[in-house]
Amino acid sequence: MVIKMTYKMSLGLACNLCGDCVDICPVDALTITEQLNHDGAKCTYCESCMDICPECAIRIRCED
Ligand code: SF4
Ligand code: SF4
Repeated sequence: MVIKMTYKMSLGLACNLCGDCVDICPVDALTITEQLNHDGAKCTYCESCMDICPECAIRIRCED
């Protein structure tokens, strides 16, 4: 049996656009324009950005 996991990322209002998450993302899935943008097609949901964020503005959750 194959279990397919679906992940969802939420970007919170606490983001101060410091760029730490952009720098640590290994697949360049995060960019900053006038806001923080997340490319779900590139993201591997490694959680590095969530761990490094000083404002706890990134949440990743698993949905089934
Ligand atoms: S590390 Fe956190 S506060 Fe900094 S840009 Fe990313 S989401 Fe925003
Ligand atoms: S979860 Fe990992 S791959 Fe996805 S945006 Fe964050 S650092 Fe990049």
